[in-house]
Amino acid sequence: MTKQKRFILQEKDIPTQWYNIQAEMPNKPLPPIHPGTKQPLSAEDLAHIFNLECSKQELDTEHAWIDIPEPVLEQYKYYRSTPLVRAYALEEAIGTPAHIYFKNESVNPLGSHKINSALPQCYYCKQEGTTNVTTETGAGQWGAALSYAAKVFGLEAAIYQVKISMQQKPYRSSIMRTFGATVEGSPSMSTRAGKDIITRDPTHPGSLGTAISEAVELATTTPHCKYALGSVLSHVSLHQTIIGLEAEKQMALAGEYPDVVIACFGGGSNFGGIAFPFMRHNFTGEKHTEFIAAEPESCPKLTRGRFEYDFGDEAGYTPLLPMFTLGHDFKPANIHAGGLRYHGAGMIVSQLIKDGYMKGVDIPQSETFQAGLLFSRTEGIIPAPESSHAIAAIIREALKCKETGEEKVLLFNLSGHGLIDMSAYDQYLNGDLHDYALSEEALQQNLSKIPHVL
Ligand SMILES: *Cc1c(COP(=O)(O)O)cnc(C)c1O
Repeated sequence: MTKQKRFILQEKDIPTQWYNIQAEMPNKPLPPIHPGTKQPLSAEDLAHIFNLECSKQELDTEHAWIDIPEPVLEQYKYYRSTPLVRAYALEEAIGTPAHIYFKNESVNPLGSHKINSALPQCYYCKQEGTTNVTTETGAGQWGAALSYAAKVFGLEAAIYQVKISMQQKPYRSSIMRTFGATVEGSPSMSTRAGKDIITRDPTHPGSLGTAISEAVELATTTPHCKYALGSVLSHVSLHQTIIGLEAEKQMALAGEYPDVVIACFGGGSNFGGIAFPFMRHNFTGEKHTEFIAAEPESCPKLTRGRFEYDFGDEAGYTPLLPMFTLGHDFKPANIHAGGLRYHGAGMIVSQLIKDGYMKGVDIPQSETFQAGLLFSRTEGIIPAPESSHAIAAIIREALKCKETGEEKVLLFNLSGHGLIDMSAYDQYLNGDLHDYALSEEALQQNLSKIPHVL
């Protein structure tokens, strides 16, 4: 029998609901709270910043399945289902008995999984009478996705892009502008938060934390403008579960079920997207899949952070969120995986780590590029530097199987392609790329700035 490489779902088999893990996880996440009163926030409170429907989804611990609105499904069909691929060539290069599969979220024109949540967020904004959306973006993947989704649903988009990423990846802002969005480097002089940060540190390279502060400020000071977040929050991973729900059906087509599921980790949305639909079978005891989130060694909130209530942004404008954090004004090293340069982990994932349903691994930058190169040269796809963290973690697992002889089924999410990250690959190929391990002293100094609420 010839070996099947790609598993694709017919349009009619694309899932029509998202999976809300909050309804089924054994311990619910602690609620987001107001920084002043320390009281749990309601959906109405969150709706000052976000659209109301996403605010409700954020706090929904009752409904395990949530219908995907018809207009969003129609848009999903432009690029879904995404392929599930068996990485035969990678397996062979490693010499592992493991079966390696990846879900390829890089095949849509925007190049990453972010579009899966940008579409519903813009759809709900439009439904509720919002005219403008604003957001932050690191590497530019989320900004590009939101710019496109805003155009689809007839909204204006204003994007704050992390300054250092804007310099490293200039074509991302071109993409956003092509879809009609306005783009500013963060920290900028156009908001109070941006001005304060620049005054304190004129050479601040920017971070997701600074850009979130600026976008939230714009949303709260502009009529009919809502803020949209591309990661971290629970409603974002909810939308991303389309990845894992498709993958579950596709694994069944392949006649397999994963022993290990891996994704890279910035705030948790692509990880939650691929992992949560499989994890529900661990809750019932029916399956015993291992779940691994791969983070940068230079930004190790899952492996070395502390579980506390902390702000989601640098200026402290957001609600306090219960999460594994490195401290909200942590300044991540300038690694190329811009989408993973964030100080905190989402609330759901933080609870799941505490409860032992998953774990983090941290990976040095050089190892991720080595993995990205091997993947490019075997599977023919140049991965985003973020996604290469997942590939490096998969290679570690595949090598373990090589040692033990186990034929484990390994699945990872290829969150995006790296075709706009070629300057990073050049640096690696020229031998100019550095590792940035976080010193214990710097870690402790940042952790000491977390407000103690717990
Ligand atoms: C944004 C991004 C990430 C990290 O965000 P998560 O919310 O953790 O998924 C990972 N990979 C790519 C390609 C991204 O654009």
